[in-house]
Amino acid sequence: MGVEEDVLSSIESNKTMLADLEKDVWNHPQIGFHEDYAAKLLSKVLEEAGFRMQRGVAELPTAFVAEWGSGAPVIGILGEYDALPGMSQKVQAQKEPTQEGGAGHACGHNLLGVGGLGAALALKHAMEKDGVKGTIRYYGCPAEETLIGKVFMARAGLFNDLDAALSWHPFYANTVWNSQSMAMNSFKLNFHGVSAHAANAPHLGRSALDGVMLTDVGVNFMREHMTTDARIHCVVTHGGEAPNIVPSYAQVWYYVRAPKRPQVDELYQRLLRVAKGATLMTDTTNDVELIAGCYDYLPNQVIGQVIARRMKQVGPPEFDETDLAFARELRDSVPPEQVEGTLTAYRKTREDLGDPLSDTVLDDVGSFTRGEITAGSTDVGDVSYVTPTGQFTTCCLPLGVAIHSWQSCASTGSGIGAKGMMLAAKVLALTGLDLLTSPNLVKAAGEEFAKAISGKEYVSPLPEGLQPPKA
Ligand SMILES: [Zn+2]
Repeated sequence: MGVEEDVLSSIESNKTMLADLEKDVWNHPQIGFHEDYAAKLLSKVLEEAGFRMQRGVAELPTAFVAEWGSGAPVIGILGEYDALPGMSQKVQAQKEPTQEGGAGHACGHNLLGVGGLGAALALKHAMEKDGVKGTIRYYGCPAEETLIGKVFMARAGLFNDLDAALSWHPFYANTVWNSQSMAMNSFKLNFHGVSAHAANAPHLGRSALDGVMLTDVGVNFMREHMTTDARIHCVVTHGGEAPNIVPSYAQVWYYVRAPKRPQVDELYQRLLRVAKGATLMTDTTNDVELIAGCYDYLPNQVIGQVIARRMKQVGPPEFDETDLAFARELRDSVPPEQVEGTLTAYRKTREDLGDPLSDTVLDDVGSFTRGEITAGSTDVGDVSYVTPTGQFTTCCLPLGVAIHSWQSCASTGSGIGAKGMMLAAKVLALTGLDLLTSPNLVKAAGEEFAKAISGKEYVSPLPEGLQPPKA
């Protein structure tokens, strides 16, 4: 067998093991920094396969790096395994949690982490059997949902010596992720005032909640004077104790997003000045807790082309009648407008995409197309400013089902997700193989990267000394 067949047959022969692993992670959903079950499970498999392990990297207890081989090129595969709070759901087409209020894998990171692991094992197999040279590294990246893990790992320099990084995400279409995502800051503003009886002695009180509310009024006025593609959203995480007590403490949590990192920096500073203004108006004080920040995603087109070619070669997941029947039920549980909305967003017809599951590999799918900006953010962005990075999506969800929904949690725990993951493992492994065996490819990806960042070294969006949040 040739090396390519060795890679693919390794993934096929591990099919049951990989499906068991992702199901195990799905059955033990843990949110960011609490995902010790998944981190232990995946790192154990890699360690037993002979990978050199570094656990608790970047002072993140549930982060790890597993490495095999030596010398150049060094290719990284990014894995994630955190779940979402409150998204617990059984594998069925009616909304019912496995555990009331529990976490669930509604973003499919059970698949994301294990798919990459399957690719890493297959590449190691090919390196041993066929003498492929270089280093393969699997990054166990925690807390993606809060955009923290890879940002701290990037600040610790863990991606600095990579020649390329690869990742993927469960979605609807089988396609390359060629668009950029939004850079972002996540931060909390704490307001401090003076409590008093709200009826008897309001003149003695200074309301921290007023500070929060006036900040948001100011932000609403600010919106007219920022670029239309920027986004600012917030929740009030603490508003006071009772109406008859002037709140002495209040807290609001903001996300500021914009297409490029410097735009986020600018909007963030403006918002802090608005908040300062609110303290002057309310005679309160405030302080800022920056929780996380990330870069926009910079897709490497050279790697993207390899991914596209390899995905077409492997072909879409082969869903059976059970998968299709379940997918139809899940699709029909969302409003028809949402299904239509997916087609509009992807700018494809139902026939082009496949319904209820995508049965094709497509170029240029809506917001994943080169030059587009997806409205969300990902901490893969920071990796993409350190090393050439390629990503893609595979079909793990029925048409119209959005990630972070109960339907998504049901789908990523079903045979649909498992099949989408197998395609991902194969595409990651074959793309990794191309990068390991073709110095010209690595060189071209590196040249494109150097041009894209135009000599600017990656500067962490995190302030110096900021520690990761405690679990
Ligand atoms: Zn996700």
